[in-house]
Amino acid sequence: MKHRDVLPAWGRVLRGYRPLLSVEITKECPLHCPGCYAYEPMHLGANSRPLRELSDYRGDDLVHGMLALVRRFRPIHLSIVGGEPLVRWRELDVLLPKLDAMGIEVQLVTSAVRPVPAHWAALKCLHLVVSVDGLPPEHDRRRAPATYDRILKHIAGHQVIVHCTVTRQQLARPTYLHEFAQLWSQRPEARKIWFSLYTPQEGECSAERLRPEDRKEALRQLAELAPLFPKVQLSRRMLDGLAHPPRFPEECLFARVTHCVTADLKTEIHPCQFGGRPVCSECGCIASAGLAALARYRIAGLIPVMAIFDASRRLGEQLRQRLDGHQNGGLQTL
Ligand code: SF4
Ligand code: SF4
Repeated sequence: MKHRDVLPAWGRVLRGYRPLLSVEITKECPLHCPGCYAYEPMHLGANSRPLRELSDYRGDDLVHGMLALVRRFRPIHLSIVGGEPLVRWRELDVLLPKLDAMGIEVQLVTSAVRPVPAHWAALKCLHLVVSVDGLPPEHDRRRAPATYDRILKHIAGHQVIVHCTVTRQQLARPTYLHEFAQLWSQRPEARKIWFSLYTPQEGECSAERLRPEDRKEALRQLAELAPLFPKVQLSRRMLDGLAHPPRFPEECLFARVTHCVTADLKTEIHPCQFGGRPVCSECGCIASAGLAALARYRIAGLIPVMAIFDASRRLGEQLRQRLDGHQNGGLQTL
């Protein structure tokens, strides 16, 4: 979300809506990344089937279903995630120009396992985010068939945001993140570089999960990158957010302003895009980190932004309930 989006986003909250929408557009993905939260059995909660067992949409039904969601929730920003969204590139080819014409900022998060159509580069509101989890040897092991070779071929002619999720394996070398930032800074296709930290689920015992000392080391390495590599987007506010994540979902401004929906286009994902039971105190989501620091910020040194958000949310709920006659109240509770 850009600075210029803050006022419209607040306006949406005051009207009882969440300003951000995230949709898992398909349940399919040809990758098998270790630590993928989307295919965890509890991703959609105890009362829902796992993602792979859901009925999802394709063809015109998917295009119309997505447009119906957007008209209903009226987000200022839409994240299209998966599964792998490019599995549905034909549907996206119809949908994205329509969203562009509606002026909705769309972030498409992909592994770039298949070519990104060249003409999408002309869509002004489209932001391609390509997941690249480390340098070629580690990334290719984790994310084949979306290997470096394929990614570079498939994003040619586009300007993408490269998004790296830092896992414990990457911290074996003290210069690893520096090398990553250097490699992608030199690539003309990369317009920005984002880093998140791996966010575990409750009870998870994986090679990816960062121990407290790993997290400290990751933040140390990351703090050195922004001044050296202009493409790395990591403000002091974001670093502060990563160092002090929310303790639980209710404290997470990002989770509270984002409506997350899975591939049946109706089941909500709780408490945030990770689903299941994420460990908030080890959250490494860069979007959450940015908003966590903002939530703690005190306007005029006195009133925390989170308190203003809570008051706005209450006002918005009352207004919306009055307007809707309580029809959709349960669906959009912030
Ligand atoms: S690309 Fe994404 S959805 Fe597919 S396996 Fe990897 S993390 Fe999971
Ligand atoms: S985004 Fe992070 S802090 Fe927010 S609810 Fe999800 S895991 Fe917790």
